[in-house]
Amino acid sequence: MQYLSTRDPQSPHRTRSFEEVLLAGLAEDGGLYVPERFPVLDREVLCGYAGMPYAELAAQTIKLFAGEAFSVGELQRLADEAYHGFRHAAVTPLAQLDHRLWLLELFHGPTLAFKDLALQFVGLMFDAALARRGDRVTIIGATSGDTGSAALEACRDREAIDIFILYPYGRISEVQRRQMTTVASANAHAIAVEGTFDDCQDLVKALFADAQLRQALNLAAVNSINWARIAAQIVYYFAAGAALGAPHRSVSFSVPTGNFGNVYAAHIARHMGLAVKDLVIGTNRNDILARYIATGEMAIAPVEPSLSPSMDIQVSSNFERLLFELKGRNGAAVTEAITAFRHTGILPRSDPEWRAAQGLFSAHKVDDTLTMNIIAETYARSGILIDPHTAVAVGAAQAELAKNHTDAPMVALACAHPAKFPDSVERATGVRPLLPGALADLFEHRERVTVLPNDRGAVTRYIRAHARRSGRLA
Ligand SMILES: *Cc1c(COP(=O)(O)O)cnc(C)c1O
Repeated sequence: MQYLSTRDPQSPHRTRSFEEVLLAGLAEDGGLYVPERFPVLDREVLCGYAGMPYAELAAQTIKLFAGEAFSVGELQRLADEAYHGFRHAAVTPLAQLDHRLWLLELFHGPTLAFKDLALQFVGLMFDAALARRGDRVTIIGATSGDTGSAALEACRDREAIDIFILYPYGRISEVQRRQMTTVASANAHAIAVEGTFDDCQDLVKALFADAQLRQALNLAAVNSINWARIAAQIVYYFAAGAALGAPHRSVSFSVPTGNFGNVYAAHIARHMGLAVKDLVIGTNRNDILARYIATGEMAIAPVEPSLSPSMDIQVSSNFERLLFELKGRNGAAVTEAITAFRHTGILPRSDPEWRAAQGLFSAHKVDDTLTMNIIAETYARSGILIDPHTAVAVGAAQAELAKNHTDAPMVALACAHPAKFPDSVERATGVRPLLPGALADLFEHRERVTVLPNDRGAVTRYIRAHARRSGRLA
């Protein structure tokens, strides 16, 4: 399997291997990597997914994208290691809310959010690929809360990796912050930037665009722009689909969306043959994607803090991958559209592309008031505590079910554990969710963090000063 950059004017004629894509994250032209084609699975293979252990399903799925880079046996070993620490034997169990609505629990990993499902696996793939090459990398990532801790946790103490995570100062929950600042490992650095998540993301993009820095420190990315993460996220859609009767019946998914990585993985699963009825994008008050689906206009508005901070995003990076498809895989056209979007804040309008996007996704906005009501109502009806991000997925699922009469089961993605956002959950229900046993002492550890201005020079200097020397280990 070979990969293309979404901004390469020569796409589809210039390609990269999975290993290069894994280690680089972002393409040198600023684009995102996508496979040159999506594998399509036979019905027999899909039938075989029912009852398969999660780690095995993960190894089989990633193998389709990894090409020569990893053998199935190697992937099976890495997947076993990645998922054995999860607190539920099914890894991503389903819980039923009513006769048509299900929760897909993606929060049983070490940092209590769905990011662990991809990062625990990708961290190991990274390490294996680097060890093979005798190489060392500096990972830089931006986080709106959950990626950071999952990435730090996945890369801590690894000899070949230094990791720096930028997060928006004061805009994430205390549990999220502590999960990053209490990682006691010399190669793991949390940086609080005085700005928004989009500022953090822009800083990371600027650092990657600095060819000299990129080369000196051998920069790599692990945010959701890394294709390997998308590939690892496809797995739980197949797992949930198989558990609910696919391919014999179709299943719908409602995904709380920020950077568009998770719902994009669902879209790829559908391409690959998973029987998906509807894909629902749930947004909070930062509803650029819902406005786009409703009106065809994608226009940036200021980011506003909400109860679901991991979705306080206006520029959804992974949307560029969809745009690449909508534009017939024309890298030059994508570059032109994205450049205009960055300059004017408005994506050049295209009605055919908008209609195509409307055919693929529905979208609903769930504001903070509704989020609180849904947390309260879900608890009252089922005794289940859900976090604010999950509430957005449940709210969007309910809105879709109300207007769309099908009998396909609807699966809302539970992307964070309620104890990650205990204040909102307690305010809505009167019940304070408890951290799982392994994390119960989170508030007793010493915090380690550096606050920096939203300034590229300051961030560059800090990283240069703290990254161990790059280059070959041996
Ligand atoms: C990251 C995250 C999201 C948003 O996912 P995207 O892939 O960026 O769309 C939603 N909810 C939670 C809890 C998250 O951690």
